[in-house]
Amino acid sequence: MGIVMKVLSKSVIVILSLVMATSAWSGVNIQPSKLYFSGVLKLGSKMKYVRVHLKPGMRFVAVMGVYKNRRGENTVKAWLVTEENFRRRRAGKRYYYIKGAGGTVRKTGKIVYRATKEGDYYFLIRSGSTNGNTPVKLVVYTLQPRLTPEFLRERKFYDRMYRAYIAMFKSRYFDINVRVCGIKNAFSDYESNITICRELIIDLKRKGHGEAIKFILHHEFAHSLLKIWGWPLYDNEDVADEFATVLSLMFRQYKAPLAAARWWAKRPVSARYLRYKIRKYDRHTITIQRARNILKWMKEPRKLLKKWQKFLISNMTNAALKVLKRGWEKGTLTWVNIDVVRAEIARRVRLQRQCR
Ligand SMILES: [Zn+2]
Repeated sequence: MGIVMKVLSKSVIVILSLVMATSAWSGVNIQPSKLYFSGVLKLGSKMKYVRVHLKPGMRFVAVMGVYKNRRGENTVKAWLVTEENFRRRRAGKRYYYIKGAGGTVRKTGKIVYRATKEGDYYFLIRSGSTNGNTPVKLVVYTLQPRLTPEFLRERKFYDRMYRAYIAMFKSRYFDINVRVCGIKNAFSDYESNITICRELIIDLKRKGHGEAIKFILHHEFAHSLLKIWGWPLYDNEDVADEFATVLSLMFRQYKAPLAAARWWAKRPVSARYLRYKIRKYDRHTITIQRARNILKWMKEPRKLLKKWQKFLISNMTNAALKVLKRGWEKGTLTWVNIDVVRAEIARRVRLQRQCR
C-alpha cells in the first residue's frame, strides 16, 4: 500500500478537479432507507418478529417471497403492531394489529404503512401452515419522507463520482441508484444504469471493508461505460475489475481496490461454493482469484495505466485530454504517452475543421 502511494502520488490525474466544470445535473437516486432485515427465515407455528422505529411521515415496508414447504403450502401470516399491542400479546391479552398492515400472504406479498405516531413497531410473522416449516424470503426496511443529512452526505459522494465520470469519459447519461434490493449485490443493467444495494453497503461496512464500495462502483461503471461504447467485452467480470483498478488509480482512491481484494481474499472458498460456480452461469472469477488479480495490478500501477491509456484516450472528453497533456508537460503524469494524446487532439481538431 505504502509503495503504491509513493509511486503514484505525483503521477496520477487529479481528474476530480474536472468535476467543477460540469453542470449540476446528475442521475443519482438515493433511497432514504434503513434496512432492518434481509434474508431467508424458516417459519414454524411460532411467531417471529422484527422491531422497527418509525416517526410521523415515515413508511414501513415488508416484502415477502414465500417458498413452498414440504406439504406444498406457501402461505405466511404477517402483521404490523404498535408497541402497546406487542406488550399485550406478550402478556397473553387480546391485541390488535394496525388496520391495512397485515393478513395472509400467499407466494408473494408486500406490506406498506405510513406512520402518524413516533414509536417502536413490531412486524410479526409466522407460517400459514398448521404444521411444517415454511421458508420465506423477507426484507424489512423503513423509508424517510425526504433525504435526511445522513442520506444527503451519501448523495454528495455519489454525485461527485458521477460528475467525475461524465467529465472524464465520453458517455451518455445514466442513473446511479442506491436502494434496498433484497440481495447483497450491485449491478449495471441493460440500460447501463447502476444499482448499489443497501445490503452490500451494510455488509461491507460491518466487515470493515467500507472503502471497497468505491471499487464496486467503479466496477459497475466499467460495465456501463464499456457497454455504452459498444465494446464486446462489457460483460466480462475480469475486464470490469481491471478497468475498475485503473479508475481507482486515476481517482487516487488507492485504498479502494485493496479493500475489495481483502474482502474477497477473506471469503471462504468452500466445496459448495466451487460446485455452484461450476454449475451456474456466473462469470465472476473465484473470489480469491479476483483478490490475487487486483493485488498484481496494484503492484505495477504505472504498467496498468500505460496499458489502458491508448484505449481510454480515444474515449475521453476534450477536457480530460487537456488535463493529461498539462500533467505530462508539468512532469506530474509521467505514465502518459504524449504522442497518443497529441495525435488524438489533432484528430479531433481536424474533424472539427471538416465539419465547418
Ligand atoms: Zn460485474
